Amino acid sequence: MLGFARTETFRHGIHPPEHKDDTCHLAIRRFPFAPTLVVPLSQHLGKPAVPIVREGQEVVRGQTIAEADGFLSVAMHAPATGIVRRIALAPSISGDMITSIYLQAQPASSQEVAEGEPCDLASASSVEIISAIQKAGIVGLGGAAFPTHVKLKVPEGKHLDTLIVNGVECEPYLTTDHRVMLEQTADVILGVRYLLRATGAGEAIIAVESNKQDAADKLRQQLPDDLPVTVHVCPVKYPQGAEKLLIQALLGREVPSGGLPVDVGAICVNVATTAEIGRLLPHGRGIQERVITIGGPGVRHKGNYRIPIGTTVRFALEQTGTLKNLSRVFLGGPMMGAAVSNLDIPVTKGTSGIIAFTTDEIGENIEVYPCIHCARCVEACPIFLNPSQLGLLARHEEYLQMAENYNLLDCFECGACSYVCPSHIPLVQYFRLAKKMVRKLEPAK
Ligand code: SF4
Ligand code: SF4
Repeated sequence: MLGFARTETFRHGIHPPEHKDDTCHLAIRRFPFAPTLVVPLSQHLGKPAVPIVREGQEVVRGQTIAEADGFLSVAMHAPATGIVRRIALAPSISGDMITSIYLQAQPASSQEVAEGEPCDLASASSVEIISAIQKAGIVGLGGAAFPTHVKLKVPEGKHLDTLIVNGVECEPYLTTDHRVMLEQTADVILGVRYLLRATGAGEAIIAVESNKQDAADKLRQQLPDDLPVTVHVCPVKYPQGAEKLLIQALLGREVPSGGLPVDVGAICVNVATTAEIGRLLPHGRGIQERVITIGGPGVRHKGNYRIPIGTTVRFALEQTGTLKNLSRVFLGGPMMGAAVSNLDIPVTKGTSGIIAFTTDEIGENIEVYPCIHCARCVEACPIFLNPSQLGLLARHEEYLQMAENYNLLDCFECGACSYVCPSHIPLVQYFRLAKKMVRKLEPAK
């Protein structure tokens, strides 16, 4: 394998305040059902699911309501027992309107979850486990929302030796993975068993940052002797949880530019995703709820909640309460998440948090100044890009040059450069837009 040294961590990166103390000690609580749940058919990278219910139809919580459209797609499940009221467009975090199933929850229902066909770990083959994960609608819960079954299918000619279970959770404010590791330890371990069987990897490493030592200790206590798994505690640094950086830190292997972890014999799966695999597959259930952190200075009753998919941000914040001078709400953490422009956007499978700020932390208008060439962004970038130069090119709409000469497409939008910029230049927002433009322009070249 590649000859990079294990480094424990990566070079560059930043140390933003963690802000995890408000919620990391709070046990996961169940969130109430909203009167109407909005389930987008596209909550993942790949093709949208195809609805198999009609307007007016009664559905049971956990029932499949949309099927995968091909391999790069996953199924959707009803987040509540109720009636399909509409199949229509709904706002999404990307700004696009997305076809969604509007489900009216039945208030008198006991909300029992429908059971499906169990995937028996003792007898299931790799192909059967991968198929069960697709049917369960599982995607990366860390935020990427990439269909997990696609990741698990090792391409012909490639060999995978190590599964990395990513419990790093380096984003400020988010504590969902921390609570999942503490409260669903057995699910995580069972999920690892399914993943090792599915991929054929010989060993697994569960990676945790040192600010979650209690979770690392609990996992170590409960790991059975027959499982080839170790728990690795990494130093706290942002963005330690980025999979390419984690692979380099743990295995000393560098994923090539434009390549995938499998190119260096590794695969990274988020720890909450792993726990859901362990929780759902033995019952043949689908994913119709997830754990999220609702927090930030603008939220009154902060916590970690198991929330039905399709709950709108508006309903969620009404339940937790907010301060009057709310300024900005993010889905995900403030570094890699996206600011919400419409409170009617629903929580989807990829939503790890709802984090709200007040005008005390984020003013209405942030003044942007010219670049002073201080190079702080260059020192922060964990993959050695030149954000200052990229920012300049973005302002001149030189998108293809950014991609061809400055490796724009390697940028994974961690936001470290924007965070350190004294001129408040919204570098990462520039790069998100530039990447979209490159994808549009490239086929026309
Ligand atoms: S957002 Fe992109 S350019 Fe900026 S620090 Fe992260 S990887 Fe580097
Ligand atoms: S941190 Fe901001 S001001 Fe400094 S070089 Fe980078 S873009 Fe310019």
